[in-house]
Amino acid sequence: MSLADVTARLRAAERAAGRPEHSVTLIAVSKVQPDARIDAVLGQGHRVFGENRVQEAGRHWQARAAELRDLELHLLGPLQSNKARQAFELFDAMHTLDRPKLADALARLAQEHGRCPDLFVQVNTGKEPQKAGIMPGEADAFVARCRQLDLPVIGLMCIPPIDAPADEHFRMLAAIAERNDLSGLSMGMSGDFEAAVAAGATHVRVGSAIFGEREPG
Ligand SMILES: *Cc1c(COP(=O)(O)O)cnc(C)c1O
Repeated sequence: MSLADVTARLRAAERAAGRPEHSVTLIAVSKVQPDARIDAVLGQGHRVFGENRVQEAGRHWQARAAELRDLELHLLGPLQSNKARQAFELFDAMHTLDRPKLADALARLAQEHGRCPDLFVQVNTGKEPQKAGIMPGEADAFVARCRQLDLPVIGLMCIPPIDAPADEHFRMLAAIAERNDLSGLSMGMSGDFEAAVAAGATHVRVGSAIFGEREPG
């Protein structure tokens, strides 16, 4: 697997779904990857990356971001309110807005900075107790609340349960987005990004299929 393979598969999935070429953004998930692999993917010209943790993202990207004007960084992991400021300054987009307290914190930062990263509301489509995300039944009200706070919510994000077919979760997320007039859909990972594109994904988050397996530790 490599960036070239994943890109080719993504373009094929767009065609198969009858969607315009490049309508799906490929986020290369660089969490827990060694510098050499990150630099290899950068060397191939890719500029859109995702990370799970604010601190690790700083280590990977603070210096590189200073040199790369066109870098686009997405936060994909849970965000604690006390790390919101640091995240706000590093990331171009955040996919894990999932609770009122975090919405309030981001709204304050947006006021202060006069700008805000693009935001995706994370929905816990499988209603899994251990997983982050707003419950599907509360999503409409939460999106409305974020809009009242003037937050730039551009879409929804989900991580389907490991042991269930992802398709129905992708479709559920697409339905919630549609009725809330949201065009962004962050869904699909290494194992299922083609199915996500078929269901309307605008952003797929692919790690191991690009970089190779993550090494433990
Ligand atoms: C790690 C991660 C990914 C990428 O997973 P792969 O299976 O390696 O493609 C995507 N999204 C989130 C939220 C992740 O934490």
